[in-house]
Amino acid sequence: MQDFAPDSRLVAGVVASPNHGERIGCASADMIVLHYTGLPTGEAEAAWRADPGGEALKWMCDPRAQVSAHYLVLEDGGILQLVPEARRAWHAGLSSWLGESDVNSLSIGIEIVNAGHAAGLPAFPPAQIDAVIALCRDVTLRRRVPPARVLAHSDVSPGRKVDPGERFPWDELARAGVGHYVEPAPFLEGPALAPTLGPGDEGQPVRALQAMFALYGYGLALTGVYDKTTQDVVAAFQRHFRPAKVDGRADVSTVTTLRDLIAALSSQSV
Ligand SMILES: [Zn+2]
Repeated sequence: MQDFAPDSRLVAGVVASPNHGERIGCASADMIVLHYTGLPTGEAEAAWRADPGGEALKWMCDPRAQVSAHYLVLEDGGILQLVPEARRAWHAGLSSWLGESDVNSLSIGIEIVNAGHAAGLPAFPPAQIDAVIALCRDVTLRRRVPPARVLAHSDVSPGRKVDPGERFPWDELARAGVGHYVEPAPFLEGPALAPTLGPGDEGQPVRALQAMFALYGYGLALTGVYDKTTQDVVAAFQRHFRPAKVDGRADVSTVTTLRDLIAALSSQSV
């Protein structure tokens, strides 16, 4: 594909990827999905370690890869655009949010260069986070993205994806006006205060918990059984909103944080 004019004034360069298509059933994207690029295993690992940005770029511009994103944010804060925002980039894969399963058609995908869980979750450099914040603000203003629709890949593909990971500073983004976030509720200890739900539990309390997660947007059926999907959704939620402990168990802190988030949502004019 030919080069194209960047959608954002923050873009340092355009590197056109052939991996994109028409947005389906949606005139304009109003969601942002954040990713980390991750570290490949096997022979590719050494090349990635030497030039993670360059290798990520190469991969997302290779027609055989069938993956892409609209933007790539390098470790030094440089922003490259690979796919025009008007087109549907291929970053979310099998995913779901608020009942919509074609997240790629609804969203702008931003890949952040970071080796991820395979490398022990290295910190995101401040310059890179500043760039992610600036880019999210720019996309949000231009496309009127509601704060609660700035999401992690793990939010829309729980159990299948874990990026950008529990070290990603959502709190810092929120302080800069990006995303929907509340201070995580503290851990409460003691037998009387710990009606934790977890794998093996079932019944009305589990159904009520599933209903709350589904109300917020997570793809979760109200089965009344604390199954693998429920565990995956709770872990995804923790990664984004209560990152101090990611174990897939609905403890008091997790459930209170979810309630606070939903309450804050209804007071928002989005
Ligand atoms: Zn991803």
